[in-house]
Amino acid sequence: MTSDRLRVLLTRRWPEAAESYLAERYDVTFNPEDTLMSADALAQAFDAYDVICPTVSDNIDTSVIGSSPRRTRLLANFGVGFDHIHIDACKKAKIAVTNTPGVLTDATADLAMTLILMTARRAGEGERELRDGRWTGWRPTHLIGRELSGKALGLVGFGRIAQATAHRAHHGFGMKILYYSRSATTAETEKNLSAKRMETLEELLRQSDVISLHVPGGAETKNMIGAKEIAFMNPGAILINTARGGVIDHDALAAALKSGALAAAGLDVYPAEPAVPPSLLALDNAVLLPHLGSATVETREAMGLRAAANVDAFASGSPLPDRIA
Ligand code: NAP
Repeated sequence: MTSDRLRVLLTRRWPEAAESYLAERYDVTFNPEDTLMSADALAQAFDAYDVICPTVSDNIDTSVIGSSPRRTRLLANFGVGFDHIHIDACKKAKIAVTNTPGVLTDATADLAMTLILMTARRAGEGERELRDGRWTGWRPTHLIGRELSGKALGLVGFGRIAQATAHRAHHGFGMKILYYSRSATTAETEKNLSAKRMETLEELLRQSDVISLHVPGGAETKNMIGAKEIAFMNPGAILINTARGGVIDHDALAAALKSGALAAAGLDVYPAEPAVPPSLLALDNAVLLPHLGSATVETREAMGLRAAANVDAFASGSPLPDRIA
């Protein structure tokens, strides 16, 4: 396959540097209006393009991929999470899938810290109060939050983003690091982060002051944090989610935030984005961000160029650097 004939589709608008890079090399269809493609349009694209570059807002399920052979041979995803792509259907249809690991680790860890600080220090509540004209001035008992120093941060999943969050929380804010993951990390990483592995999720939840979720989305982690797990957390605990919305049962979370069983939650992701569970919108102790984890100039550009590197490898017949299927 020659690279000049490769037809590439970007399902959403990308940073200019990454679009220019691809435009110089391939026959690319862009989405300058940045409109969400329908399932029908996505399904048709599988017969019109050699490479499709989707992202988290595209639902690439079996109805889109189909079962008969298609023109598309590569899905070069813009993003590290790939639970929006039906990986088994891609394997069956012999469509390769790549993602963009690593380049968004720091930005997402920064956002996890943003949510930890915003919830612990009640920054969302304070901002809303001030903008609403309800602030009556400084007083000793006004919007009292919690300090992070010496508190235990429990990380669920201990991959790239969890470890980068642990680094910030431990070395920057003096937090103790606990983690739960199916596999242990190296002794060196544990030493560098003063991190202690908990044998069970229950043990982690019981011992943590702040719990931050960093597992992939998908069937295995769906509702991993529900009413039973929330009951293990102590009443002053804070729950942070920059992973995927489906990891939390949001009805159980809203009930716990309302009753005071949990102190606060900081969320960047939701089960059916862009919908946000209405029960959470009404709660002052929920900090709600619109999926901003990787949203920095540096990171979004790096994500585009990393996806483009996978397209390049595909075009030249080289091994795909970030192949997941
Ligand atoms: P990663 O390096 O692959 O880390 C994932 C971790 O989860 C690994 O430690 C993995 O270890 C653990 N894990 C997987 N399944 C598990 C399970 N069932 N139970 C317990 N632990 C499990 O991925 P990453 O780069 O840190 O990214 C993590 C996730 O963050 C992504 O998948 C994505 O969905 C999300 N993300 C969100 C944003 C945002 O904008 N908010 C940005 C980037 C990424 P074991 O397999 O050993 O258990």
